[in-house]
Amino acid sequence: HAKDKGRGRYEIFDGSMHQKVQNALSLETDIREAIAWQEFIPYFQPIIKLDDQALVGFEALARWQSTKRGFVYPNDFIPLAEDTGLIKALDMQIIEASCQQLKIWQDELGCDAMYVSCNLFANHFFSTTLPQDIENILLRTGLSPHNLRVELTERALLENADIVLTNMQALKNLGVKILLDDFGTGYSSLGYLHRFPIDVLKIDKSFISNVHEHANHRAIIKTIVDLANNLHMSTVGEGIESLVDAQLLEQMDCAYGQGYYFAKPMSPQDATSYIIEKS
Ligand code: C2E
Ligand code: MG
Ligand code: MG
Ligand code: MG
Repeated sequence: HAKDKGRGRYEIFDGSMHQKVQNALSLETDIREAIAWQEFIPYFQPIIKLDDQALVGFEALARWQSTKRGFVYPNDFIPLAEDTGLIKALDMQIIEASCQQLKIWQDELGCDAMYVSCNLFANHFFSTTLPQDIENILLRTGLSPHNLRVELTERALLENADIVLTNMQALKNLGVKILLDDFGTGYSSLGYLHRFPIDVLKIDKSFISNVHEHANHRAIIKTIVDLANNLHMSTVGEGIESLVDAQLLEQMDCAYGQGYYFAKPMSPQDATSYIIEKS
């Protein structure tokens, strides 16, 4: 009797494991197809200069317009794309589409100083072809390297320091700026920061949201901003959801901000209207 019960429980566990594996396999197949069908597109979220509210650029955020699954957000496809290595093709498609879109805005709306900031999975920085891959995209789209930025997380700084540094230097030589995303949440040993040619720290939204209610978050933000300034880096606060928080960040010398208070990530069409309204 006890044995039956035990086996029954084991079968339930087995069944749900089986389901998980099935789901992952079908998601992987769908992501693979979606890359071939170019179903991944960038949405654009404005990045704002806090002292005068000027639009300085956009972060490109991947969205999946799936014929099978509908409109899918990154949390539901980025992790598996990372695990399966499909992230490389996905990231390159988003970067290329973003450069293409910004070039169109430059030609049609004349916003030549604006940049687009694209997310790169940390492992890209372990590949010797990264700088050439990016340069090829710039050549194909005709966008100037000065209008492209790449965002990576601290994880990229913890391994393979030699190749990561070589790649960063090559991108910098092209004129592409490098941002450290989600700063403050990583395995922060501040000791490594000055060794890499990083231009901007993006302060993680977990410190920013409702910062007016959290004195300890203000202390952390102020420390990050001062550290960045001392290392000749700039800062972007992400996840700003209210005017008070935008004002507090500005008072703490954080130069740029991004968040729902200014605008949510937008379709290319909506971003076009936004640029026209702003200019
Ligand atoms: P991230 O790069 O840190 O991007 C910021 C995330 O915060 C975005 O989520 C954005 O929509 C969200 N956000 C912006 N402002 C606010 C706000 O005021 N409040 C709140 N609650 N959230 C805000 P999203 O678009 O869902 O992307 C999630 C993550 O997925 C990104 O975090 C990034 O790590 C990853 N991701 C997105 N697109 C790509 C991509 O093309 N390639 C790679 N490798 N990763 C990507
Ligand atoms: Mg980012
Ligand atoms: Mg972030
Ligand atoms: Mg993130």
